[in-house]
Amino acid sequence: MKTRSRGRFAIIGAGMSGLLAAIKLQEAGFDFTVFEKADRVGGTWRENTYPGIACDVPSHLYSYSFALNPDWHYLASPGEEIQAYFERMAERHGLEARIRFNDPVVRCEWQEDEAGAGCWEVESASGTIGRFEWVIAATGILHHPKVPDIEGIASFAGACFHSARWDHDVPLDGRRIGVIGTGSSGVQITGALGPRAGHFTLFQRTAQWVMPVDQIEYSEQQREAFRRDPELLKQTHEQLSRSFHDGFANTVLDGESAAIDEIERACREYLETRVVDPELRENLRPDYRAACKRLVISHNFYDSVQHENVELVTTPISRIEPSGVRTEDGRLHELDLLVLATGFHVDRFVRPMTVRGHGGVLLDDVWAKRPSAYLALAVPGFPNFFMLNGPNSPVGNFSLIMTAELQIAYVMKLVALVQRGELPTAMPSAEAADRFEQERTEAAKKTVWATGCKSWYLDDRGIPFAWPFPFSRFRAEMEVPRLSDYERPLDPV
Ligand code: NAP
Repeated sequence: MKTRSRGRFAIIGAGMSGLLAAIKLQEAGFDFTVFEKADRVGGTWRENTYPGIACDVPSHLYSYSFALNPDWHYLASPGEEIQAYFERMAERHGLEARIRFNDPVVRCEWQEDEAGAGCWEVESASGTIGRFEWVIAATGILHHPKVPDIEGIASFAGACFHSARWDHDVPLDGRRIGVIGTGSSGVQITGALGPRAGHFTLFQRTAQWVMPVDQIEYSEQQREAFRRDPELLKQTHEQLSRSFHDGFANTVLDGESAAIDEIERACREYLETRVVDPELRENLRPDYRAACKRLVISHNFYDSVQHENVELVTTPISRIEPSGVRTEDGRLHELDLLVLATGFHVDRFVRPMTVRGHGGVLLDDVWAKRPSAYLALAVPGFPNFFMLNGPNSPVGNFSLIMTAELQIAYVMKLVALVQRGELPTAMPSAEAADRFEQERTEAAKKTVWATGCKSWYLDDRGIPFAWPFPFSRFRAEMEVPRLSDYERPLDPV
């Protein structure tokens, strides 16, 4: 089995990582088509438009390293500004013409001719079928909203939607607004809407540790300084990268580390000093280790939750009725709008599209128990098929852009190896993938994510399904592909 020619790429998704792949492939002179399910680029930043949306990773870090932006207005810029950045990137690189909008991929099938040369047949919803030697699935993690299975939810008479499906036609000011969920989304919505609502009810199932941050707004002089001095911009990016990727990303690897103690101390101090009412303070106090769930970083949550219009409800929800949410104490919380900030199904990755690899093997079958991938980006049986930010990729309180940049650089190294004839195709062996997964699973059990809270970082067995090694190891793995981990010619099926 080998790849037929130099090759065309199908890139699935025009969010942060799909655009990145397109830019890098274009620079290297490859032919590619981007398939996008929606009518605009931007991925998560297009989909999530809830009030208060921002990226709590500093904007000077959450930027492509080759397109640093002197014009960020805030340390943690609002979603709209980030969306505009990605739209600008697509325009600057002339990518719009290479993207098939409103045309999601429904099927990818690896096909081989009699000589054993293979390529991917890619079919999109419009019925178009194309042939590509390479597929890059840049389909994201947090893109299938999780709607809670609460009795009576369909009977609610007011507006009700998920945080990632915000209906901007629904009025907010002075209304009775309820939000279920206190993850990063629910916290940002509370920060923005608490003071605007007539009455705001936050339904909290589990308290969150909140890390304080100053909402820094860059002045025109500061932005001008970044514009005039690209070196300053670069240094700022590098400094932030060191602190987040070589700092925070590593502190979570040992649940007992002193660094986590320090994070917990800072969060506790913030809670003690900022929340005045002792009863509210106790209700907001988590009973698990800080950073066990993704750390919530906020400059306004505690202020908002103490606003006179805002009520924190910790009594469990018993059902939803036409006029509001009934809690187990029998109380009915009457609402005009109910927002479900209840997170995402995080195990879908490239699904629901049908992906059929060598010998007709279905990705759905390979992933029947749970998704996994060699080095978070490739699956045995699926030649020349890569995922950016795929299963077990580094995630956390840092920039996924850095992760995707390292991954696309790695993919291009593999492509070069295939083109030079050193590999027939780029497909990890089952042994290499199993070895990696075993080692990963063992390391994951020691991380802070496994110290006793529930979160979307845990798989069906309760084992964290994220990168559990130092970020430096991720960098090193992405630097030089290990040839011996890749399949040599396979027997024809
Ligand atoms: P999430 O972290 O999964 O939080 C979901 C929330 O909904 C949790 O508080 C959960 O409670 C609650 N919940 C779920 N089902 C419920 C039910 N049936 N009844 C009551 N409560 C229920 O989701 P998210 O806030 O959308 O965030 C997801 C991820 O998106 C984040 O972890 C982060 O990676 C990313 N994000 C990033 C930013 C940023 O600034 N970088 C902003 C927003 C989101 P339990 O805790 O009890 O399960």
